[in-house]
Amino acid sequence: MTDKKGMLVSKIKNGTVIDRIPAGKALKFVELMGLANEKHTLTIGMFVKSHKIGMKDIVKVHDRTLTKKELDALGLFAPGVTVSTIENYQVRSKVNLNVPDIIDEVLKCNNPTCVTNYREPIKTKFKVIQKEPLLVRCQYCDRVMLEENVLSQI
Ligand SMILES: [Zn+2]
Repeated sequence: MTDKKGMLVSKIKNGTVIDRIPAGKALKFVELMGLANEKHTLTIGMFVKSHKIGMKDIVKVHDRTLTKKELDALGLFAPGVTVSTIENYQVRSKVNLNVPDIIDEVLKCNNPTCVTNYREPIKTKFKVIQKEPLLVRCQYCDRVMLEENVLSQI
């Protein structure tokens, strides 16, 4: 974030910058991640002009990094976003998110008799068997869920 577009939304000292969110989806994203309840300072830019993708949204979360579970959910919600971890105004790491191969915990199995739905300590695990359109398979009961089932959960 050393370029001109960074000037529109001011730099943060420590935290996470989620960039290239599809234009107009930033608020949905903030809600999805539960960020609105956490009282971390958020800087949100919507409909920011981008040379590469036309328009985009940016969310900066001050003093917080994202967990693997959150990154997986984000990859499902908006493949193509970039997530940068910022320390002392410097980019420490930057990743391009994509649909993960394995999805831990994020999704609920839609088979009511699946063991993950009635034994509390068992966390869900899905394998992505196709990315476009999305198809995932429960690792416990083999139930296959379609993209619309997945996206309605996140
Ligand atoms: Zn299942």
